[in-house]
Amino acid sequence: MTDAGRVLVITGAGVSAESGIPTFRGEDGYWRNLDPAKLATPEAFARDPKLVWEWYRERRQCIRNAQPNAAHAAIAKLAQRAGDLLLVTQNVDDLHARAGLPKEKMVQIHGDIFLSRCSRCDWRAELCDAEERGTRNNSGLAGARPSTGPNEHEIQQTDLPYCARCHALMRPGVVWFGEQLPWDEVRRVEDYLGRGACDLVIVAGTTATFGYIIDWALRASTDGGQLIEVNPDETPVSTFATQRIHEPAAIALPRLIDQICNP
Ligand SMILES: [Zn+2]
Repeated sequence: MTDAGRVLVITGAGVSAESGIPTFRGEDGYWRNLDPAKLATPEAFARDPKLVWEWYRERRQCIRNAQPNAAHAAIAKLAQRAGDLLLVTQNVDDLHARAGLPKEKMVQIHGDIFLSRCSRCDWRAELCDAEERGTRNNSGLAGARPSTGPNEHEIQQTDLPYCARCHALMRPGVVWFGEQLPWDEVRRVEDYLGRGACDLVIVAGTTATFGYIIDWALRASTDGGQLIEVNPDETPVSTFATQRIHEPAAIALPRLIDQICNP
């Protein structure tokens, strides 16, 4: 067993897809015939917060029913062997954590689906199971139930979660299309990159369409570090990778990480 050194791992929806979490892309991502790319926006929430909360409630239920896969387990194992590892994930689920990766080694750059936050002030709250079952609570999702008939409008007004501090509407604790990344999480990534170059960068299961993903991967590997991409498809990172593995993460990562830990 050897020390894998400083390691940056970046994961995206492809890693969770293998646990059965639908991605935003393609037909699988549609919900009630609605395009998730249009639901995950501040505009959709302003127009119909109840609909957006219902969608997120179903997504949370789907995540609770899912299990971490071999890719999550392999990354958690690498974290134990590496001198200093940071995972930056675009996934808002808790599968990396449930596979055993400590919170302090993980940045959820697009937020956490199990948190809610105020749409006006900086109040945050956890969404707990009791709230999912419809128990009233000012700080979380108070049972945004599916519409049940003519009183739908009234139910909508009373059942949505409101901020315990300022009474504005609470919203899912995730980053929507067109929104800024959370500055405190960005700072954690920048701090990690600022502490020194990485020996190894792994980019897995992300289409890398966001410029900051490419930027972080390149900056981390700039000083001669390896940049390994795991993705069945070509992405903007592919050109820069020192090694490309055209396989799903759950197949490729356990083998790759075994090789890194036991060369
Ligand atoms: Zn508030």
